[in-house]
Amino acid sequence: MSDCLFCKIIAGEIPANVVLRDHGFVAFHDINPKAPVHILVVPERHVVSIADVAELSETERAAMGPFIARVAAAAGVESGGYRVATNAGPNARQEIMHLHWHVLGGALLSQSM
Ligand code: AMP
Repeated sequence: MSDCLFCKIIAGEIPANVVLRDHGFVAFHDINPKAPVHILVVPERHVVSIADVAELSETERAAMGPFIARVAAAAGVESGGYRVATNAGPNARQEIMHLHWHVLGGALLSQSM
């Protein structure tokens, strides 16, 4: 989608610190990290939020969870533990309207979600 920030990152039009790219997903560091490790995982296909996950192919849906786990392992937070979260819609304060998973770790995280 032409006016989507994350689509521009995926296309390489806007720079990002990419960690991993595979199976239709890209992982890159959050520009404003809320934890020592804060990585965003996005599908290359533009999907607004988890509410629209049916717009991903079956293959993409199957790859999504394992890809997130691979990103956490690659970031070195697997043994210590990490949080995976996604915001959908205004009550969740979703800012970027392209499905993304926050992968947070590297320290004891706050109890609030
Ligand atoms: P959300 O509130 O779930 O939509 O989260 C959007 C996330 O995108 C926030 O954590 C932002 O810090 C992050 N973000 C915004 N712009 C960029 C960017 N250019 N590169 C990396 N992360 C970004």
